[in-house]
Amino acid sequence: MLIDTHGRVATDLRVSLTDRCNLRCTYCMPEEGLRWLARPELLTDDEIVRLVGIAVTTLGVEEVRFTGGEPLLRPGLTGIVARVAALAPRPRMSLTTNGIGLGRTAAALREAGLDRVNVSLDTLRPGVFRTLTRRDRHQDVLDGLAAARAAGLTPVKVNAVLMPGLNADEAPDLLAWALEQGYELRFIEQMPLDAQHGWKREGMVTAGDILAALRTRFELTPEDSGERGSAPAERWTVDGGPHRVGVIASVTRPFCAACDRTRLTADGQVRTCLFAREETDLRGALRSGATDEEIAALWRGAMWGKKAGAGLDDPSFVQPDRPMSSIGG
Ligand code: SAM
Ligand code: SF4
Repeated sequence: MLIDTHGRVATDLRVSLTDRCNLRCTYCMPEEGLRWLARPELLTDDEIVRLVGIAVTTLGVEEVRFTGGEPLLRPGLTGIVARVAALAPRPRMSLTTNGIGLGRTAAALREAGLDRVNVSLDTLRPGVFRTLTRRDRHQDVLDGLAAARAAGLTPVKVNAVLMPGLNADEAPDLLAWALEQGYELRFIEQMPLDAQHGWKREGMVTAGDILAALRTRFELTPEDSGERGSAPAERWTVDGGPHRVGVIASVTRPFCAACDRTRLTADGQVRTCLFAREETDLRGALRSGATDEEIAALWRGAMWGKKAGAGLDDPSFVQPDRPMSSIGG
C-alpha cells in the first residue's frame, strides 16, 4: 500500500501523459506556452504501462486518471488505455481533457477500456472562451462532450474554473446547461498553480461566491451531510435531485486530511501533492535497470513522507516551480 505517516492511503493515481497543450488558459499558462519537455525526457508508453502496472498490482492503486497538459495530444493514448485495462486487478480509468479531439477519439477510447471523462469547459460564450483559452475552439469542446456522452463515457463530468471579470457571472447558466445536457458539473476554485505565478487570493472566485450565485436560481441540498470522504468535490443535489453539482474548494476548504492521491508526472517523477516541492525520480530508476520491487519501494518511500496539508494558508507557503500543466491536474 501507499501509506503515509498521517495514516492516509493513496489509491488514486493521476498520470500526466504530456505537458503540452493546444489551449492557453490564462489561469494555467502564458500565451507563448512553456518550455515543453523534450521527447527523451518523457516516459515512453512502455514505461508508463510498467509504472501503472506496479502501482496497480503491488501498491494498491484502484483508480487511474490520465491527464496533462492535454492527454489527447499523446499519440499512444488509446494503446496505453488498452494495456492498463488489461491489468489485473483492472483499475477504474478516467481522462481529464479539454475535449478538443474527443469528437474523433471518444468511441475508440471507450472501446479500449476508458470508463469516463472529465472535460474542462469554463464558459458557454464562444467569445469568452476565446479570451480565456486564447484559442477559437469552443465548438470543438462542445462536440467532444457530445461524443463522450454518445460513446458511453459516463457520467460525463464538466470542470469549470471561474475568473472575475470573465466568466464569474456564468455559474447558474453553466449549471442550467449541464442539467439539460446530462453532464455533471463541478466548479474548481482557482489555485496558485499557474506558470506565470499571477494567482492572488483576493482575485479568485470562492466556493462561497459560487454557491451564493447558484442559489439565486436553484435549490441546493448538501448531498452527504458534510462528509465527502476523499472526494475533493463537495456535492449538492439540485432542485430536489436526482441531478447534482460539485464544488472543489481546494483553497477555501482544503480536503488534505482525506487525500488519497499520488501523482506521476510525464517525465516520471512521483509527486505526493499538487503543491509538493519535492519529487521522487522513478524514470531514473527505471532506466538504470531497477526491478519492479525496487521501484515500488521508492514509490512507497516517497508517499511515506507526504505532508499533512498543502499549506496554502501557511505564511511560508511557496508555490511549486512546476505549473499545473506539467504536474498533471
Ligand atoms: N488539459 C486538460 C484539461 O484542461 O482538462 C487536463 C489538464 S488541466 C491542468 C486539469 C484541470 O486543471 C482543468 O480542469 C483545468 O481547468 C484545471 N486547472 C488548470 N489550472 C488551474 C488553476 N490554476 N487552478 C484551478 N484549476 C486549474
Ligand atoms: Fe491546457 Fe488544460 Fe492548462 Fe487549459 S487547463 S491550458 S486546457 S492544460
